[in-house]
Amino acid sequence: MENTSSNSVASGVLDLIGNTPLVRLNRVTQGLEAEVLAKLEFLNPSGSIKDRMALFMIENAEKRGDLKPGSIIVEASTGNTGIALSFVATVKGYPMTVYMPKAVASEERMQMMQSYGARIELVGTEDLDSSLDPSVHGGVIEIVPRQKCLEVEGKDPHIWWARQFSNPDNVAAHRETTGKEILEQTGGQVDAFLASIGTGGTLLGVAEAIKPVCPDAEIIAVEPAGAPWIGRGKEAIPFIEGITDGLLFDILDGGVTDEIIWVTDDDAVQMARRLAREEGLFCGMSGGANVFAALQVAKRLGNGKTIVAILTDSRDRYLTTERYIT
Ligand code: PMP
Repeated sequence: MENTSSNSVASGVLDLIGNTPLVRLNRVTQGLEAEVLAKLEFLNPSGSIKDRMALFMIENAEKRGDLKPGSIIVEASTGNTGIALSFVATVKGYPMTVYMPKAVASEERMQMMQSYGARIELVGTEDLDSSLDPSVHGGVIEIVPRQKCLEVEGKDPHIWWARQFSNPDNVAAHRETTGKEILEQTGGQVDAFLASIGTGGTLLGVAEAIKPVCPDAEIIAVEPAGAPWIGRGKEAIPFIEGITDGLLFDILDGGVTDEIIWVTDDDAVQMARRLAREEGLFCGMSGGANVFAALQVAKRLGNGKTIVAILTDSRDRYLTTERYIT
């Protein structure tokens, strides 16, 4: 069969990662004069922004020779990263194992990973060990699953652990793609950028792209009110799924964050519901949190300003955990 050659045909699904639309919010912004733009990351092929870093981490590991035919990919994840890595891994022909914290493993997220052919290992988080190897740093909920990754990596030379919390390609993915796209789409006019913090890769990478062009742009981290990691540095009960799992230390060290806005899970959920019903945007709760915070910033900045908020993922992966959404 001859190859279809046309400029409008993608050569494979991995080429469809990124280049997501930026859309103006028209109804939830009523009464506000600043423009609030949402970056639709749920339109990535596996349904979240994590496709970008999965592709970057895997392809750069291939270039370095760390990943090669016969390798097995492992990662600790509560959701989006596991789904995205499972997706990219299967397209590239690598087996994938996701170590998931039992406490937050939802049925549909496991099914999504399994649909991409991944193996899931549920890990109990009861026995949190405080004398951890430093290379397992990151979100508390995934510490025991990360210890598992470290353990299996040490035993089998075929295993490659993606290490999303410390892999520089996580940040690079957002500097080279998400951030660049936002600059192009806004014509280099960004007055504020908001992203919720998981690994911190999105916020840091986009900040690294935006700051040289828009030095006055405010870089705003959004955190669940119940789990103020970077602002207050203490442990609390995690909420808003997906964003209560840790941070890249570089966010603290680099001082990229101009402001932190804490959003309650209720406000995040209500805004996710409004985004679906009023704007037709089916995004998860962390996107709701980002927009909730963006509206506060829009009020403060006023006329003529452009605010960009990330809609991280699709709400499809929270359908059985919608105790939040009634
Ligand atoms: N929102 C959701 C739903 C997520 O899963 C994550 C990552 N765990 C984030 C936001 C934060 O993204 P990042 O890891 O780039 O900080």
